[in-house]
Amino acid sequence: MLPLTDRMRTEVAIIGAGPAGLLLSHLLALEGIESVVVETRSREYVESRIRAGILESSTVALLEAAGVGERLRAVGEEHCGIYLQWPGERHHLDFLGLAGRTVWMYGQTELTRDLGRARDAAGQRFYYGVSATAVHDLHSDRPYVTFQAFDGREVRLDADVIAGCDGAHGPSRAAVPVTARQVWERTYPYSWLGILADAAPSTDHLIYAWHPDGFALHSMRSRTVSRLYLQVEPGTDIADWPDDRIWEALATRLGHGQDGWKLITGRITEKSVLPMRSYVMAPMRHGRLFLAGDAAHTVPPTGAKGLNLAAADVALLARALTAMLREHDSRLADAYSDTALRRVWRSTHFSWWMTTMMHSTGDPFDAQLQLTQLDWVANSTAGATGLAENYTGPPSARAEPWSRPDDTPAFGRVALPRLTCSP
Ligand SMILES: Cc1cc2nc3c(=O)[nH]c(=O)nc-3n(C[C@H](O)[C@H](O)[C@H](O)COP(=O)(O)OP(=O)(O)OC[C@H]3O[C@@H](n4cnc5c(N)ncnc54)[C@H](O)[C@@H]3O)c2cc1C
Repeated sequence: MLPLTDRMRTEVAIIGAGPAGLLLSHLLALEGIESVVVETRSREYVESRIRAGILESSTVALLEAAGVGERLRAVGEEHCGIYLQWPGERHHLDFLGLAGRTVWMYGQTELTRDLGRARDAAGQRFYYGVSATAVHDLHSDRPYVTFQAFDGREVRLDADVIAGCDGAHGPSRAAVPVTARQVWERTYPYSWLGILADAAPSTDHLIYAWHPDGFALHSMRSRTVSRLYLQVEPGTDIADWPDDRIWEALATRLGHGQDGWKLITGRITEKSVLPMRSYVMAPMRHGRLFLAGDAAHTVPPTGAKGLNLAAADVALLARALTAMLREHDSRLADAYSDTALRRVWRSTHFSWWMTTMMHSTGDPFDAQLQLTQLDWVANSTAGATGLAENYTGPPSARAEPWSRPDDTPAFGRVALPRLTCSP
Protein backbone atom coordinates (compact mmCIF):
# COMPACT_ATOMS: atom_id res chain seq x y z
CA MET A 1 0.00 0.00 0.00
CA LEU A 2 1.29 3.52 -0.80
CA PRO A 3 2.03 5.90 2.12
CA LEU A 4 -0.83 8.08 3.31
CA THR A 5 -0.74 11.83 3.43
CA ASP A 6 -3.28 13.88 5.36
CA ARG A 7 -4.41 15.70 2.24
CA MET A 8 -4.49 14.17 -1.22
CA ARG A 9 -5.76 15.13 -4.61
CA THR A 10 -7.05 13.03 -7.48
CA GLU A 11 -9.37 13.41 -10.45
CA VAL A 12 -12.02 10.89 -9.37
CA ALA A 13 -12.48 9.85 -5.72
CA ILE A 14 -14.13 6.42 -5.71
CA ILE A 15 -15.88 5.23 -2.56
CA GLY A 16 -16.11 1.44 -2.40
CA ALA A 17 -13.84 -1.31 -3.77
CA GLY A 18 -16.62 -3.69 -4.81
CA PRO A 19 -17.04 -4.60 -8.50
CA ALA A 20 -18.41 -1.14 -9.40
CA GLY A 21 -15.59 0.83 -7.77
CA LEU A 22 -12.76 -1.40 -9.00
CA LEU A 23 -14.06 -1.61 -12.56
CA LEU A 24 -14.65 2.13 -12.70
CA SER A 25 -11.07 2.85 -11.58
CA HIS A 26 -9.84 0.43 -14.23
CA LEU A 27 -11.93 1.91 -17.07
CA LEU A 28 -10.94 5.44 -16.10
CA ALA A 29 -7.26 4.50 -16.05
CA LEU A 30 -7.63 3.18 -19.61
CA GLU A 31 -8.69 6.71 -20.54
CA GLY A 32 -5.75 8.20 -18.63
CA ILE A 33 -7.87 9.42 -15.72
CA GLU A 34 -6.47 9.09 -12.22
CA SER A 35 -8.55 7.88 -9.29
CA VAL A 36 -8.19 6.92 -5.64
CA VAL A 37 -10.35 4.16 -4.14
CA VAL A 38 -11.32 4.10 -0.46
CA GLU A 39 -12.93 1.06 1.15
CA THR A 40 -14.07 0.29 4.70
CA ARG A 41 -13.33 -3.45 4.61
CA SER A 42 -9.99 -5.19 4.29
CA ARG A 43 -8.94 -6.33 0.85
CA GLU A 44 -9.05 -9.98 1.97
CA TYR A 45 -12.64 -9.56 3.12
CA VAL A 46 -13.76 -7.89 -0.12
CA GLU A 47 -12.06 -10.53 -2.28
CA SER A 48 -13.58 -13.46 -0.43
CA ARG A 49 -17.14 -12.11 -0.08
CA ILE A 50 -19.41 -14.76 -1.65
CA ARG A 51 -22.09 -13.07 -3.74
CA ALA A 52 -22.98 -13.05 -7.43
CA GLY A 53 -21.81 -15.53 -10.04
CA ILE A 54 -23.59 -14.93 -13.37
CA LEU A 55 -22.20 -12.50 -15.94
CA GLU A 56 -24.23 -11.35 -18.94
CA SER A 57 -22.46 -11.59 -22.28
CA SER A 58 -22.22 -7.79 -22.45
CA THR A 59 -20.44 -7.76 -19.07
CA VAL A 60 -18.02 -10.38 -20.39
CA ALA A 61 -17.44 -8.33 -23.56
CA LEU A 62 -16.79 -5.23 -21.46
CA LEU A 63 -14.28 -7.04 -19.23
CA GLU A 64 -12.49 -8.46 -22.25
CA ALA A 65 -12.35 -5.09 -23.99
CA ALA A 66 -10.90 -3.66 -20.78
CA GLY A 67 -8.17 -6.35 -20.70
CA VAL A 68 -9.45 -8.17 -17.61
CA GLY A 69 -11.22 -11.11 -19.24
CA GLU A 70 -8.37 -13.57 -19.62
CA ARG A 71 -8.89 -15.65 -16.47
CA LEU A 72 -12.64 -15.47 -16.91
CA ARG A 73 -12.31 -17.09 -20.35
CA ALA A 74 -9.85 -19.66 -18.96
CA VAL A 75 -11.69 -20.82 -15.86
CA GLY A 76 -15.22 -19.38 -16.18
CA GLU A 77 -17.95 -21.48 -17.77
CA GLU A 78 -20.22 -20.36 -20.56
CA HIS A 79 -23.85 -21.34 -20.00
CA CYS A 80 -26.24 -21.17 -22.89
CA GLY A 81 -29.39 -21.88 -20.94
CA ILE A 82 -31.11 -22.71 -17.66
CA TYR A 83 -33.62 -25.29 -16.48
CA LEU A 84 -37.03 -24.19 -15.24
CA GLN A 85 -38.84 -26.79 -13.20
CA TRP A 86 -41.81 -27.54 -11.00
CA PRO A 87 -42.91 -30.86 -9.51
CA GLY A 88 -42.83 -33.51 -12.22
CA GLU A 89 -41.47 -31.24 -14.96
CA ARG A 90 -38.08 -29.90 -16.00
CA HIS A 91 -37.63 -27.77 -19.13
CA HIS A 92 -34.47 -26.45 -20.68
CA LEU A 93 -34.43 -22.90 -22.10
CA ASP A 94 -31.84 -22.49 -24.85
CA PHE A 95 -30.61 -18.90 -24.54
CA LEU A 96 -28.32 -19.13 -27.52
CA GLY A 97 -31.12 -20.27 -29.80
CA LEU A 98 -33.70 -17.91 -28.33
CA ALA A 99 -31.75 -14.70 -27.74
CA GLY A 100 -28.46 -15.28 -29.55
CA ARG A 101 -26.56 -14.65 -26.32
CA THR A 102 -25.20 -16.65 -23.39
CA VAL A 103 -24.19 -15.98 -19.77
CA TRP A 104 -20.95 -16.86 -17.99
CA MET A 105 -20.55 -18.47 -14.61
CA TYR A 106 -17.73 -16.64 -12.85
CA GLY A 107 -17.78 -15.81 -9.15
CA GLN A 108 -17.78 -12.22 -7.94
CA THR A 109 -14.82 -13.22 -5.75
CA GLU A 110 -12.79 -14.12 -8.86
CA LEU A 111 -13.79 -10.97 -10.71
CA THR A 112 -12.88 -8.80 -7.72
CA ARG A 113 -9.46 -10.48 -7.52
CA ASP A 114 -8.85 -9.97 -11.26
CA LEU A 115 -9.72 -6.29 -11.01
CA GLY A 116 -7.60 -5.86 -7.88
CA ARG A 117 -4.59 -7.41 -9.58
CA ALA A 118 -5.05 -5.26 -12.68
CA ARG A 119 -5.22 -2.16 -10.50
CA ASP A 120 -2.09 -3.25 -8.58
CA ALA A 121 -0.23 -3.64 -11.88
CA ALA A 122 -1.26 -0.12 -12.87
CA GLY A 123 -0.14 1.38 -9.54
CA GLN A 124 -3.67 2.25 -8.41
CA ARG A 125 -3.91 4.07 -5.08
CA PHE A 126 -6.45 2.38 -2.85
CA TYR A 127 -7.02 2.60 0.88
CA TYR A 128 -8.64 -0.34 2.60
CA GLY A 129 -9.84 -0.41 6.21
CA VAL A 130 -10.99 3.22 6.31
CA SER A 131 -13.82 4.51 8.52
CA ALA A 132 -16.05 7.59 8.86
CA THR A 133 -16.14 8.20 5.10
CA ALA A 134 -18.04 11.41 4.28
CA VAL A 135 -18.58 13.50 1.12
CA HIS A 136 -18.48 17.31 1.00
CA ASP A 137 -19.10 20.32 -1.27
CA LEU A 138 -20.94 18.27 -3.88
CA HIS A 139 -22.19 21.36 -5.70
CA SER A 140 -18.76 22.92 -6.11
CA ASP A 141 -16.26 21.88 -8.79
CA ARG A 142 -13.89 20.82 -5.97
CA PRO A 143 -15.82 18.23 -3.97
CA TYR A 144 -13.90 16.17 -1.44
CA VAL A 145 -14.07 13.02 0.64
CA THR A 146 -12.89 12.72 4.23
CA PHE A 147 -12.12 9.46 6.00
CA GLN A 148 -10.12 8.03 8.81
CA ALA A 149 -7.34 5.83 7.54
CA PHE A 150 -6.66 2.42 9.05
CA ASP A 151 -3.85 3.94 11.17
CA GLY A 152 -6.22 6.53 12.66
CA ARG A 153 -5.12 9.54 10.61
CA GLU A 154 -7.80 11.89 9.30
CA VAL A 155 -7.47 12.24 5.53
CA ARG A 156 -9.00 14.70 3.09
CA LEU A 157 -9.18 13.60 -0.54
CA ASP A 158 -9.88 16.43 -3.00
CA ALA A 159 -11.27 15.52 -6.42
CA ASP A 160 -13.00 16.81 -9.52
CA VAL A 161 -15.73 14.21 -9.14
CA ILE A 162 -16.82 11.66 -6.52
CA ALA A 163 -18.11 8.24 -7.57
CA GLY A 164 -20.32 6.62 -4.94
CA CYS A 165 -19.78 2.89 -5.49
CA ASP A 166 -20.31 2.00 -1.84
CA GLY A 167 -23.29 -0.34 -2.08
CA ALA A 168 -26.66 -0.15 -0.36
CA HIS A 169 -25.37 0.94 3.06
CA GLY A 170 -22.62 3.41 2.17
CA PRO A 171 -22.64 7.18 2.75
CA SER A 172 -23.11 8.22 -0.91
CA ARG A 173 -26.78 7.33 -1.22
CA ALA A 174 -27.46 8.98 2.12
CA ALA A 175 -25.67 12.17 1.00
CA VAL A 176 -28.41 12.92 -1.53
CA PRO A 177 -31.00 15.04 0.33
CA VAL A 178 -34.42 13.46 0.67
CA THR A 179 -35.90 16.44 -1.20
CA ALA A 180 -33.58 15.83 -4.17
CA ARG A 181 -34.32 12.16 -4.75
CA GLN A 182 -37.12 9.78 -5.52
CA VAL A 183 -37.09 6.24 -4.19
CA TRP A 184 -39.05 3.16 -5.21
CA GLU A 185 -38.80 0.02 -3.11
CA ARG A 186 -40.33 -3.37 -2.45
CA THR A 187 -39.52 -5.78 0.34
CA TYR A 188 -40.49 -9.36 -0.48
CA PRO A 189 -42.07 -11.65 2.11
CA TYR A 190 -39.28 -14.23 1.79
CA SER A 191 -35.50 -14.54 2.04
CA TRP A 192 -32.87 -16.87 0.58
CA LEU A 193 -30.71 -19.24 2.53
CA GLY A 194 -27.58 -19.62 0.39
CA ILE A 195 -24.90 -22.27 0.79
CA LEU A 196 -21.55 -22.96 -0.81
CA ALA A 197 -20.66 -26.66 -0.81
CA ASP A 198 -17.71 -28.80 -1.78
CA ALA A 199 -19.91 -30.82 -4.12
CA ALA A 200 -19.67 -31.30 -7.88
CA PRO A 201 -22.65 -29.62 -9.56
CA SER A 202 -25.50 -32.08 -10.15
CA THR A 203 -26.45 -30.22 -13.33
CA ASP A 204 -24.82 -28.67 -16.39
CA HIS A 205 -26.93 -25.49 -16.21
CA LEU A 206 -28.66 -23.68 -13.34
CA ILE A 207 -31.95 -25.17 -12.14
CA TYR A 208 -34.68 -22.74 -11.06
CA ALA A 209 -37.26 -24.81 -9.18
CA TRP A 210 -40.75 -23.84 -8.13
CA HIS A 211 -42.06 -26.02 -5.30
CA PRO A 212 -44.98 -25.68 -2.87
CA ASP A 213 -42.46 -25.80 0.02
CA GLY A 214 -40.61 -22.85 -1.52
CA PHE A 215 -38.24 -21.93 -4.34
CA ALA A 216 -34.84 -23.62 -4.76
CA LEU A 217 -31.94 -22.75 -7.05
CA HIS A 218 -29.06 -25.00 -8.02
CA SER A 219 -26.11 -22.91 -9.17
CA MET A 220 -22.37 -23.62 -9.19
CA ARG A 221 -18.99 -21.92 -8.92
CA SER A 222 -16.70 -24.56 -10.48
CA ARG A 223 -16.52 -28.24 -11.36
CA THR A 224 -16.13 -29.07 -7.66
CA VAL A 225 -18.10 -26.33 -5.89
CA SER A 226 -21.88 -25.86 -5.92
CA ARG A 227 -23.88 -22.81 -4.83
CA LEU A 228 -27.45 -23.58 -3.78
CA TYR A 229 -30.31 -21.52 -2.42
CA LEU A 230 -33.58 -22.18 -0.58
CA GLN A 231 -36.51 -19.85 -0.08
CA VAL A 232 -36.94 -19.30 3.68
CA GLU A 233 -38.98 -17.03 5.94
CA PRO A 234 -37.67 -13.48 6.45
CA GLY A 235 -35.74 -13.27 9.72
CA THR A 236 -34.74 -16.94 9.53
CA ASP A 237 -32.10 -17.91 12.09
CA ILE A 238 -29.37 -19.90 10.35
CA ALA A 239 -29.05 -22.02 13.52
CA ASP A 240 -32.49 -23.49 12.69
CA TRP A 241 -31.04 -24.93 9.47
CA PRO A 242 -28.47 -27.62 10.25
CA ASP A 243 -26.76 -29.10 7.20
CA ASP A 244 -28.98 -32.22 7.07
CA ARG A 245 -32.13 -30.10 7.00
CA ILE A 246 -30.71 -27.98 4.16
CA TRP A 247 -29.81 -30.99 2.00
CA GLU A 248 -33.17 -32.62 2.67
CA ALA A 249 -35.08 -29.49 1.63
CA LEU A 250 -32.90 -29.06 -1.48
CA ALA A 251 -33.45 -32.70 -2.47
CA THR A 252 -37.23 -32.35 -2.16
CA ARG A 253 -37.54 -29.02 -3.94
CA LEU A 254 -35.02 -29.77 -6.70
CA GLY A 255 -36.60 -33.15 -7.45
CA HIS A 256 -34.02 -35.70 -6.28
CA GLY A 257 -35.07 -39.03 -7.79
CA GLN A 258 -37.27 -37.43 -10.47
CA ASP A 259 -36.50 -39.23 -13.78
CA GLY A 260 -33.34 -40.63 -12.18
CA TRP A 261 -31.83 -37.19 -11.41
CA LYS A 262 -29.68 -37.10 -8.28
CA LEU A 263 -28.61 -34.19 -6.10
CA ILE A 264 -24.92 -34.51 -5.22
CA THR A 265 -24.25 -33.39 -1.65
CA GLY A 266 -21.00 -32.41 0.07
CA ARG A 267 -19.43 -30.41 2.88
CA ILE A 268 -21.11 -27.02 3.36
CA THR A 269 -18.42 -24.33 3.62
CA GLU A 270 -20.56 -21.19 3.83
CA LYS A 271 -24.15 -20.41 4.85
CA SER A 272 -25.97 -17.08 4.91
CA VAL A 273 -29.47 -15.63 4.78
CA LEU A 274 -30.12 -12.96 2.17
CA PRO A 275 -33.19 -10.66 2.35
CA MET A 276 -35.03 -10.04 -0.93
CA ARG A 277 -35.50 -6.42 -1.86
CA SER A 278 -35.98 -4.14 -4.86
CA TYR A 279 -34.79 -0.54 -4.54
CA VAL A 280 -34.23 2.20 -7.10
CA MET A 281 -33.13 5.75 -6.36
CA ALA A 282 -33.23 8.57 -8.92
CA PRO A 283 -31.44 10.59 -10.04
CA MET A 284 -28.16 8.68 -9.85
CA ARG A 285 -26.30 11.98 -9.63
CA HIS A 286 -26.23 14.84 -7.15
CA GLY A 287 -23.96 17.70 -8.19
CA ARG A 288 -20.47 16.20 -8.56
CA LEU A 289 -21.47 12.94 -6.84
CA PHE A 290 -22.32 10.09 -9.25
CA LEU A 291 -23.83 6.87 -7.91
CA ALA A 292 -23.19 3.47 -9.51
CA GLY A 293 -24.14 -0.14 -8.75
CA ASP A 294 -25.85 -1.13 -5.52
CA ALA A 295 -25.39 2.40 -4.18
CA ALA A 296 -28.24 3.44 -6.48
CA HIS A 297 -30.28 0.27 -6.86
CA THR A 298 -30.81 -3.20 -5.44
CA VAL A 299 -32.50 -6.14 -7.13
CA PRO A 300 -33.45 -9.50 -5.63
CA PRO A 301 -30.85 -12.03 -6.87
CA THR A 302 -33.39 -14.25 -8.71
CA GLY A 303 -32.63 -12.55 -12.03
CA ALA A 304 -28.81 -12.50 -11.48
CA LYS A 305 -28.68 -8.80 -12.33
CA GLY A 306 -26.96 -6.91 -9.47
CA LEU A 307 -23.37 -7.34 -10.57
CA ASN A 308 -24.25 -6.85 -14.24
CA LEU A 309 -26.05 -3.59 -13.51
CA ALA A 310 -23.01 -2.38 -11.56
CA ALA A 311 -20.81 -3.11 -14.60
CA ALA A 312 -23.26 -1.44 -17.00
CA ASP A 313 -23.43 1.69 -14.81
CA VAL A 314 -19.68 2.16 -14.60
CA ALA A 315 -19.23 1.55 -18.33
CA LEU A 316 -21.52 4.52 -18.95
CA LEU A 317 -19.99 6.55 -16.14
CA ALA A 318 -16.40 6.06 -17.30
CA ARG A 319 -17.30 7.43 -20.73
CA ALA A 320 -19.26 10.30 -19.26
CA LEU A 321 -16.45 11.31 -16.88
CA THR A 322 -13.86 11.01 -19.64
CA ALA A 323 -15.83 13.44 -21.82
CA MET A 324 -16.37 15.75 -18.85
CA LEU A 325 -12.81 15.80 -17.52
CA ARG A 326 -10.86 15.51 -20.76
CA GLU A 327 -13.04 17.24 -23.36
CA HIS A 328 -14.98 19.59 -21.03
CA ASP A 329 -18.14 18.13 -22.52
CA SER A 330 -20.73 17.41 -19.83
CA ARG A 331 -23.53 16.09 -22.08
CA LEU A 332 -22.94 12.41 -21.25
CA ALA A 333 -22.55 13.21 -17.55
CA ASP A 334 -25.83 15.14 -17.64
CA ALA A 335 -27.52 12.19 -19.38
CA TYR A 336 -25.86 9.52 -17.16
CA SER A 337 -28.70 9.04 -14.69
CA ASP A 338 -31.50 8.82 -17.28
CA THR A 339 -29.46 6.53 -19.55
CA ALA A 340 -28.45 4.17 -16.74
CA LEU A 341 -31.95 4.07 -15.27
CA ARG A 342 -33.45 2.65 -18.47
CA ARG A 343 -31.41 -0.51 -18.02
CA VAL A 344 -31.90 -0.43 -14.25
CA TRP A 345 -35.69 -0.45 -14.62
CA ARG A 346 -35.65 -3.23 -17.21
CA SER A 347 -33.57 -5.38 -14.84
CA THR A 348 -35.68 -4.33 -11.87
CA HIS A 349 -38.81 -5.50 -13.64
CA PHE A 350 -37.22 -8.76 -14.77
CA SER A 351 -35.89 -9.51 -11.27
CA TRP A 352 -39.30 -8.79 -9.75
CA TRP A 353 -41.00 -10.96 -12.40
CA MET A 354 -38.69 -13.94 -11.85
CA THR A 355 -39.01 -13.54 -8.08
CA THR A 356 -42.81 -13.42 -8.01
CA MET A 357 -43.09 -16.28 -10.52
CA MET A 358 -40.75 -18.62 -8.64
CA HIS A 359 -41.45 -18.09 -4.92
CA SER A 360 -44.23 -19.85 -3.08
CA THR A 361 -46.57 -17.53 -1.17
CA GLY A 362 -48.64 -20.28 0.46
CA ASP A 363 -51.74 -18.97 -1.35
CA PRO A 364 -53.32 -21.68 -3.58
CA PHE A 365 -54.55 -19.11 -6.12
CA ASP A 366 -51.03 -17.64 -6.45
CA ALA A 367 -49.68 -21.17 -6.91
CA GLN A 368 -52.01 -21.88 -9.86
CA LEU A 369 -51.11 -18.56 -11.51
CA GLN A 370 -47.40 -19.31 -11.08
CA LEU A 371 -47.76 -22.80 -12.53
CA THR A 372 -49.64 -21.61 -15.60
CA GLN A 373 -47.07 -18.85 -16.08
CA LEU A 374 -44.20 -21.35 -15.84
CA ASP A 375 -45.94 -23.66 -18.28
CA TRP A 376 -46.31 -20.79 -20.76
CA VAL A 377 -42.71 -19.63 -20.38
CA ALA A 378 -41.34 -23.14 -20.79
CA ASN A 379 -43.54 -24.23 -23.66
CA SER A 380 -44.05 -21.16 -25.81
CA THR A 381 -41.28 -19.63 -27.90
CA ALA A 382 -42.60 -16.16 -27.09
CA GLY A 383 -42.53 -16.78 -23.33
CA ALA A 384 -39.14 -18.47 -23.38
CA THR A 385 -37.66 -15.74 -25.56
CA GLY A 386 -38.79 -13.05 -23.13
CA LEU A 387 -37.01 -14.79 -20.29
CA ALA A 388 -33.90 -15.55 -22.36
CA GLU A 389 -33.61 -12.01 -23.71
CA ASN A 390 -33.85 -10.49 -20.24
CA TYR A 391 -31.69 -13.06 -18.46
CA THR A 392 -28.81 -12.72 -20.90
CA GLY A 393 -29.25 -8.92 -20.84
CA PRO A 394 -29.35 -6.26 -23.54
CA PRO A 395 -26.27 -5.88 -25.75
CA SER A 396 -23.17 -4.01 -24.66
CA ALA A 397 -23.38 -1.00 -22.38
CA ARG A 398 -20.13 0.59 -23.48
CA ALA A 399 -21.60 2.82 -26.14
CA GLU A 400 -25.37 2.86 -25.92
CA PRO A 401 -27.00 0.11 -23.89
CA TRP A 402 -30.00 -0.23 -26.16
CA SER A 403 -28.25 -0.23 -29.52
CA ARG A 404 -28.54 -3.57 -31.26
CA PRO A 405 -25.37 -4.67 -33.06
CA ASP A 406 -26.11 -5.75 -36.62
CA ASP A 407 -25.04 -9.29 -35.89
CA THR A 408 -27.60 -9.80 -33.10
CA PRO A 409 -29.69 -12.76 -34.29
CA ALA A 410 -33.44 -12.54 -34.51
CA PHE A 411 -35.24 -13.92 -31.48
CA GLY A 412 -37.31 -17.07 -31.33
CA ARG A 413 -35.43 -19.17 -33.85
CA VAL A 414 -35.28 -22.43 -31.89
CA ALA A 415 -38.10 -24.73 -30.85
CA LEU A 416 -38.35 -25.90 -27.24
CA PRO A 417 -37.49 -27.98 -25.36
CA ARG A 418 -33.90 -29.03 -26.03
CA LEU A 419 -31.77 -30.81 -23.49
CA THR A 420 -28.42 -29.35 -24.45
CA CYS A 421 -27.38 -26.24 -26.28
CA SER A 422 -23.59 -26.44 -26.56
CA PRO A 423 -22.49 -23.68 -28.92
C1 LIG B 1 -25.26 -10.21 0.86
C2 LIG B 1 -25.38 -10.14 -0.65
C3 LIG B 1 -25.46 -11.32 -1.40
C4 LIG B 1 -25.61 -11.27 -2.78
N1 LIG B 1 -25.74 -12.42 -3.47
C5 LIG B 1 -25.95 -12.37 -4.78
C6 LIG B 1 -26.14 -13.55 -5.50
O1 LIG B 1 -26.14 -14.64 -4.92
N2 LIG B 1 -26.35 -13.46 -6.84
C7 LIG B 1 -26.39 -12.23 -7.48
O2 LIG B 1 -26.57 -12.18 -8.69
N3 LIG B 1 -26.18 -11.09 -6.82
C8 LIG B 1 -25.98 -11.14 -5.49
N4 LIG B 1 -25.80 -9.99 -4.82
C9 LIG B 1 -25.76 -8.73 -5.59
C10 LIG B 1 -24.34 -8.37 -6.09
O3 LIG B 1 -23.36 -8.99 -5.31
C11 LIG B 1 -24.21 -6.85 -6.05
O4 LIG B 1 -25.17 -6.32 -6.94
C12 LIG B 1 -22.82 -6.35 -6.43
O5 LIG B 1 -21.89 -6.66 -5.41
C13 LIG B 1 -22.85 -4.83 -6.66
O6 LIG B 1 -21.54 -4.32 -6.71
P1 LIG B 1 -21.23 -2.88 -6.12
O7 LIG B 1 -19.77 -2.67 -6.34
O8 LIG B 1 -22.19 -1.91 -6.64
O9 LIG B 1 -21.54 -2.96 -4.55
P2 LIG B 1 -20.82 -3.80 -3.43
O10 LIG B 1 -20.30 -5.08 -3.95
O11 LIG B 1 -21.74 -3.83 -2.27
O12 LIG B 1 -19.55 -2.93 -3.05
C14 LIG B 1 -19.65 -1.74 -2.30
C15 LIG B 1 -18.37 -1.57 -1.50
O13 LIG B 1 -18.42 -0.33 -0.79
C16 LIG B 1 -17.86 -0.52 0.48
N5 LIG B 1 -18.33 0.51 1.40
C17 LIG B 1 -19.52 0.55 2.06
N6 LIG B 1 -19.55 1.64 2.85
C18 LIG B 1 -18.38 2.29 2.67
C19 LIG B 1 -17.83 3.48 3.24
N7 LIG B 1 -18.51 4.17 4.18
N8 LIG B 1 -16.60 3.88 2.86
C20 LIG B 1 -15.89 3.16 1.96
N9 LIG B 1 -16.38 2.00 1.39
C21 LIG B 1 -17.60 1.58 1.76
C22 LIG B 1 -18.34 -1.93 0.86
O14 LIG B 1 -17.55 -2.50 1.89
C23 LIG B 1 -18.20 -2.66 -0.46
O15 LIG B 1 -16.94 -3.27 -0.61
C24 LIG B 1 -25.65 -10.02 -3.44
C25 LIG B 1 -25.54 -8.84 -2.70
C26 LIG B 1 -25.43 -8.89 -1.33
C27 LIG B 1 -25.35 -7.59 -0.54
